[in-house]
Amino acid sequence: MMKVTNILKLKNKNHLKVISVTNPYDDYHIIKLTVDDKINWEAGEFGIFWLPDSDVKGKKWRIFSLSSIKKEGFLQIGTRTGKEISSYKKHIISLKEGEKVKMVGPLGGFKLKDNKTPLILIAGGVGITPIRSILKQLEGNNKRKVELIYSSKDFYLFEQDILDIAAKDKLVKLNLVSSRGETKKIIQSLVDIYESNAYYYISGSPKMVRASKKIIKSNKIRNKRIISDSFIGYK
Ligand SMILES: Cc1cc2nc3c(=O)[nH]c(=O)nc-3n(C[C@H](O)[C@H](O)[C@H](O)COP(=O)(O)OP(=O)(O)OC[C@H]3O[C@@H](n4cnc5c(N)ncnc54)[C@H](O)[C@@H]3O)c2cc1C
Repeated sequence: MMKVTNILKLKNKNHLKVISVTNPYDDYHIIKLTVDDKINWEAGEFGIFWLPDSDVKGKKWRIFSLSSIKKEGFLQIGTRTGKEISSYKKHIISLKEGEKVKMVGPLGGFKLKDNKTPLILIAGGVGITPIRSILKQLEGNNKRKVELIYSSKDFYLFEQDILDIAAKDKLVKLNLVSSRGETKKIIQSLVDIYESNAYYYISGSPKMVRASKKIIKSNKIRNKRIISDSFIGYK
């Protein structure tokens, strides 16, 4: 990826305002921001965000995937703070309605390539964020098989949204799992069925992305079928 400092020079900044910040469970937070006519993005893309009116110590920006689609009328971020909360995250989760957020983007290649190839979507924890927007994009006009493997320990962020999408679409199958063993087993069984006839999207911590890729690659799936977003900063 291009250096963030260069991207900041090249790309226009979008000025957004907070609609709400909610805390659905433990250290999970959802931030909803306003959208206007000038902002457009594709499902799966990310933005680089900073908080112009907050006194953030250390690194002033973070990358977050855009977990909503424009049609929903808001731009949504989902995040976890962990136990030791960074200055940036302390500030972002304390934002109040109407406060400003700047975004550079959209950016990234975690996007749909066509409208017919089956999709194997693999999310680890908060890595569900770009996959939620992809599922939202497919909602109501999906023509292909979609398998979601969503691995998380105590809580599934956006679970209800995902259940609602799957309930209306027989082609979408959910595999909600909570252990590495189960995740591996399901990935292997799907690789056996689909081989290189599907796109494999993987999103989560670098460790989770590496482990999932390893299984897929060891089965000789073509590289161009594997698309991943590594959430650097998560263990
Ligand atoms: C494409 C992409 C999409 C992402 N989408 C999301 C999302 O939707 N939601 C979300 O919560 N997070 C997302 N992230 C990760 C996010 O940008 C933050 O890095 C993460 O949330 C941790 O931030 P923090 O403030 O909690 O921790 P930080 O204070 O940033 O860091 C936590 C730990 O990670 C280490 N670290 C930080 N940056 C790097 C680096 N570049 N290389 C190696 N070590 C590093 C730090 O030294 C520290 O030990 C995404 C990252 C990428 C690259």
